[in-house]
Amino acid sequence: MAGEFELIARHFTRPVQRAALGVGDDCALLRLAPGMQLAVSSDMLVEGRHFLSTVAPERLGHKALAVNLSDLAACGAEPLAFTLALALPRADEAFLAPLARGMLALADAFGVELVGGDTTAGPLNLCLTVFGQVGAGQALLRSGAVVGDDLWVSGELGDARLALEVFRGSLVLPGEAFETVRRAMELPQPRVALGQALRGIASSAIDLSDGLVGDLGHVLQRSGVGGVVQVDELPRSATLAAQPEAVQHLCLLAGGDDYELLFTAAEQQRAAVQAAASRSGVRVTRIGRIEPGQALRLVDRHGVGLTQRFSGFDHFAT
Ligand code: ADP
Ligand code: MG
Repeated sequence: MAGEFELIARHFTRPVQRAALGVGDDCALLRLAPGMQLAVSSDMLVEGRHFLSTVAPERLGHKALAVNLSDLAACGAEPLAFTLALALPRADEAFLAPLARGMLALADAFGVELVGGDTTAGPLNLCLTVFGQVGAGQALLRSGAVVGDDLWVSGELGDARLALEVFRGSLVLPGEAFETVRRAMELPQPRVALGQALRGIASSAIDLSDGLVGDLGHVLQRSGVGGVVQVDELPRSATLAAQPEAVQHLCLLAGGDDYELLFTAAEQQRAAVQAAASRSGVRVTRIGRIEPGQALRLVDRHGVGLTQRFSGFDHFAT
């Protein structure tokens, strides 16, 4: 069996392209363009919590990096590099090789490089830290939403949660439909280009990881405003749209793992938002508005409030 350093050399060491120094020394060295700030974010994935043991290692590698890149996207930052801290029950090449392949393929697609990390024995756990750059003062923040702003979301919501419900056995989907929602859960596409294109246009942004209600709640709270969401406007796949309304609402409003961008922009920016979206190859949908106060209202097409209550995911909620 390969030792720690052999595993690192075999699976996680590649020549650096942009960084000044990558894997193999005590620190990596990154270059920042003049006038740029460093954007940093960490996300940990724990087996049984964030992923199921049934996930293919290649997809797990993809997802671990994708959810981290999604945080850079939400800030409008350009990805530069990442580190990988990995706990593994054993040095299993049949697991590690596809894991690294999935992760590094996504890294190549976004021009971001693995520059370091840590490898230890232990219960399966991946912790990545991503580093990006963004012009000083230009990062999109949760705190910038203003009364009167439009609320927007990218892509479609809820499919990842729908897949989770199938895995949990609470509903059944035909094979092909299950494969598409499973892809949404296991292969999220971080909206990096959109985040960068929205700099100077969006007033606030967040990526959706814990469900719309919870994540929008963070924006409202940080911005000191209220909001209204037209639930019927929420973009959803044909598969989700075919489900009973209660399932749709659960997946759209409280489903996690969407990794779409939720953002606000002034009404005068509508054309600019659409242009940014089409340049980024992502669809965006206007789903509501920012209002005075601090409440989040969920309404149907008649303006009637939903009676069902939803909340975002919280690891320690009782
Ligand atoms: P140190 O003991 O100085 O912290 P390590 O012996 O843990 O360094 O790691 C050796 C080198 O390999 C370092 O450059 C570290 O960043 C890198 N490294 C360790 N694990 C990984 C990993 N999973 N992916 C990428 N680089 C890694
Ligand atoms: Mg050291």
